[in-house]
Amino acid sequence: MKFLTIKKHTLCVLLVSVILICSVVGVCYAVRAVSSPKIVRTIVIDAGHGGADGGCIGRSSGITENELNLEYAETLKSICEGLGLKVVMTRTDLNGLYSPLASNKKRSDMEARQKIIEDSAADLVLSVHMNAFPLSSSRGAHVFFDKKNQGGEVLAQSLQNALYENIAYAKSQANAGDFYILNCTQVPGALVEFGFLSNHEEEKLLLSNEYRQEICYAVACGVLDYLHM
Ligand SMILES: [Zn+2]
Repeated sequence: MKFLTIKKHTLCVLLVSVILICSVVGVCYAVRAVSSPKIVRTIVIDAGHGGADGGCIGRSSGITENELNLEYAETLKSICEGLGLKVVMTRTDLNGLYSPLASNKKRSDMEARQKIIEDSAADLVLSVHMNAFPLSSSRGAHVFFDKKNQGGEVLAQSLQNALYENIAYAKSQANAGDFYILNCTQVPGALVEFGFLSNHEEEKLLLSNEYRQEICYAVACGVLDYLHM
């Protein structure tokens, strides 16, 4: 009889445990169902140049493209994060990404950027640059893509459309270009030349906070358009 009592008690404890576990699991499933996972889109923002490679130089101000690219990349980052995107930066200071011991610093720098892109599992890459041309009248934001990357071409044209609709002098058509940062990966990418540091008026605009915000918002709109958000 005692044995039977113990058995009954054990059975009872078991039953209560099973009921408890079921309710906890049930609650967990209910919570998961209510807060269904939101798809987080990730973008890599690449501030071009850095360190020994300053890029082009402002004809009037003497500012390096390295400095300006970083400012634009940081502005884009805060706008994109505000829109709910996850942002991975290739660089967050004025240094290049090359190993100090590398014999070919440019190659080492580009390979480090490629690794960040590949490790990020990003939906897209934006590379931030400023343009320069001997003819000082050249101006206008222009977007480039790798012709072997179809997603990149669609992305580049989305960005170019948003720029064309919102920013004076922006080109209407994105173009194919041969850039390591775009052809080193299958991730759709676009290289944005925000404007010409060799054009006096455009250089002044590129240096102003208002213009930087305005043009970065236009690029962010192009990103949302590409991502169908
Ligand atoms: Zn550049």
